[in-house]
Amino acid sequence: MNEQSEIMNDQLLHFTIASRDVRGRIVRIDTALNAIISVHNYPPLIENLLAETITLAAVIGSTLKNEDGQMTIQAQSADGVISLLVCDYIAGAVRGYVQFDQHKFDAREDDSLETLFADGYLAITIDRAKQGRYQGIVPLDGSSITDCVEHYFVQSEQLPTKIIYGIRGDSNKITGALLVQHLPDGEEGKERLHVRLDHPEWEHVKILSQSMSPEELVDTCIPLEELAWRLFHEEEVRIEKGDIISRGCRCNEAHIRDVIAKFPDSERQEMANEEGQIVVDCKFCSKDFFISLASLAN
Ligand SMILES: [Zn+2]
Repeated sequence: MNEQSEIMNDQLLHFTIASRDVRGRIVRIDTALNAIISVHNYPPLIENLLAETITLAAVIGSTLKNEDGQMTIQAQSADGVISLLVCDYIAGAVRGYVQFDQHKFDAREDDSLETLFADGYLAITIDRAKQGRYQGIVPLDGSSITDCVEHYFVQSEQLPTKIIYGIRGDSNKITGALLVQHLPDGEEGKERLHVRLDHPEWEHVKILSQSMSPEELVDTCIPLEELAWRLFHEEEVRIEKGDIISRGCRCNEAHIRDVIAKFPDSERQEMANEEGQIVVDCKFCSKDFFISLASLAN
């Protein structure tokens, strides 16, 4: 393990191949990922799904401009083992959690997405500061969350997309992802007049992208720049560093107080424990907030 590669973990790498109207992202997440996962006590299967979704949130979220605000990936189902898996991204800060039924989990017949999210769907939401909220939805019927996200871009965004995802480790995980997208008719912001999944420029880049192995993505001996050069050594690739990935929760006591203050006094009394405190936990970071009834009275 060399020092350079260590520096690049938890860091996004952006690249563009202008001659082929392609943009890409590579990320490898270590510290931030384990910080998010370690506060939850999920079974390994659920941990791995959360790790995958956090990593996808990082590569997708990083394609937004900063003024676009927050990007959320949400997988949910009414009857599945998992009722909700949610991760969001804002300028490098990621967070996520999973809600699942332990009895259904123990009794499940297999680990397929179909079992875990029976008839569920995947939603990607962008909360823009100025233009408001945008959401697209696809069914959760792929073989992996990565598959479903790829499908989302093609179906919902008409944006040819290839994603390779890798994970290694058990208690201490490292994940990595490569995202490559074709932007026909140039850069973002311009109307795309036609979308062709078999566009020759895209076909070429897609085939090159598919030669990236999941193992390379999580091999901490290989700097991310080198991964990009290896894939596209015959192309004119422009590479730049993107956001640093961190575990970021936006829970705050003032907001929780505002919410509790809206309940009638009688309901607040019922919510409180023997010490006269209402305990609210943040589902994302598992932090407990202790709000005393006395302090609310003021
Ligand atoms: Zn929190």
